[in-house]
Amino acid sequence: MKLNELTITEAAEGLKKKKFTAVELTRACLDLIKKRNQEINAFITVSEKSALEEAKAADKLLAAGNGKALTGIPFAVKDAICTKDIRSTGSAKILDNYVPPFDATVIKKIRDLGGVLIGKNNCDAFGHGASNENSMYGPVKNPHDTSKVAGGSSGGSAAAVADNQCIFAIAEDTGGSIRQPASFCGVVGLRPSYGRNSRYGIMPMASSLDTVGPITKTVADLAIVMEAIAGRDDRDATTVPDSVPIYTKALEESLKGVKVGVPKEYYEIAGMDPEVKAATEKQIEKLKKLGAKIVDVSLPHTKYAIAVYYIIVPSEDSSNLGRLDGVRYGVRSKPSPRGRGTEGEGSSQGALYDLYAKSRATGFPEEVKRRILIGTYALSAGYYDAYYKKTQQVRTLIKQDFDKVFNPPSGGVDVLITPTSPFPAFTIGEKANDPIAMYLADVMVSPAAVAGMPALSVPAGVTKSGLPIGIQIIGARLKEAKVLNVGYQLETNN
Ligand code: GLN
Repeated sequence: MKLNELTITEAAEGLKKKKFTAVELTRACLDLIKKRNQEINAFITVSEKSALEEAKAADKLLAAGNGKALTGIPFAVKDAICTKDIRSTGSAKILDNYVPPFDATVIKKIRDLGGVLIGKNNCDAFGHGASNENSMYGPVKNPHDTSKVAGGSSGGSAAAVADNQCIFAIAEDTGGSIRQPASFCGVVGLRPSYGRNSRYGIMPMASSLDTVGPITKTVADLAIVMEAIAGRDDRDATTVPDSVPIYTKALEESLKGVKVGVPKEYYEIAGMDPEVKAATEKQIEKLKKLGAKIVDVSLPHTKYAIAVYYIIVPSEDSSNLGRLDGVRYGVRSKPSPRGRGTEGEGSSQGALYDLYAKSRATGFPEEVKRRILIGTYALSAGYYDAYYKKTQQVRTLIKQDFDKVFNPPSGGVDVLITPTSPFPAFTIGEKANDPIAMYLADVMVSPAAVAGMPALSVPAGVTKSGLPIGIQIIGARLKEAKVLNVGYQLETNN
């Protein structure tokens, strides 16, 4: 087995036993990126020099017996997450030259433990998309079949992990961006509960939904990374003070008596691929054999989740992206000599307006512009009540659906099981010019996001043509330990 193919658990063990060094492990990943990036396009920036320096430093820590869980482990980061001294574009040309002077909190935590940051992953620009085709740096190809998308928006992170170009990755999930690409690429991905992990240093998309989580090769690895990154952060007031459980301990717990809900609305979705349905049913059978109790449940407002999501997200997007004007960060377009604007052609205000307009017109891809327009409309006077306010009310109903099945007056379910996506990876270009079809791809992943619930995607076999299928395990708020426990049992019992 090649070093870059190891899991975190295996790599940490090998490092500890001095079977290889962190520099060798890092080089193995970097070599594969060099070979494969042209084709897969999972990385926008490879930080080879600093990675090798970090690996050397990790080797020193390990030699002195000061290694921690992630010391010397090479990882990659979605480009919509800020990394100190390493270019972070968000996959949009408007930030093509942006080098943050700071690390996002979750990245700082991993680097402080000795994790080796090897580069930045391609994604849909600012997280907008479900196929990675909205990146201004080209689409990411699925390593299992390069004619297919890797999923989105964190397609580069999922593809990099699946292709063994890194040992794990950190990505962002606002409405499925960790789970859906993880399912398309056959790896594990967790959207944590909103507030569990710090969002400080994440390029904000929709602030009331954004979360940060790991993409890994196994559930056990995911538990290790969550232990490293979860917790309260003074720099993100939405993080919760609740202590971080020892996720790795919960994995082995028996599923005897654990109640698993099967929400019928997810299984009635039009266009569900029969192979995905069959794979999910197989996992439900497996859960029964492992002693879990399967319960039919209903989440009646599920059908509104996409509509709610695609009002709230563009609204918050349009506000968050207002800061990118080509002046303070990123790429500034040259205004035309006779700028237009409210003060008239040629005025200084006209020139400034022209600069903003040009920078934004060339620096954002079409999907980002579409969302800014939709969001600005939804928030405008006269429409705010009908759109943003109304969707917030429906959002509460969706959240209450989850509360009712997880915390009824007596005996709720522990987790819910659904497919992660109604279909496996689709062909590159298939939905690229049909935004509605692309939005509908989020049908399974948007409800938990809108409600702030944790949800995990775990591989559940492959289709006849060899494309990975993922199943989703949704938990009650802050019950990541149970979600990981169920995921681990499914993954390790075949
Ligand atoms: N498909 C979702 C969207 O386009 C994914 C967003 C995300 O989780 N970043 O909004």
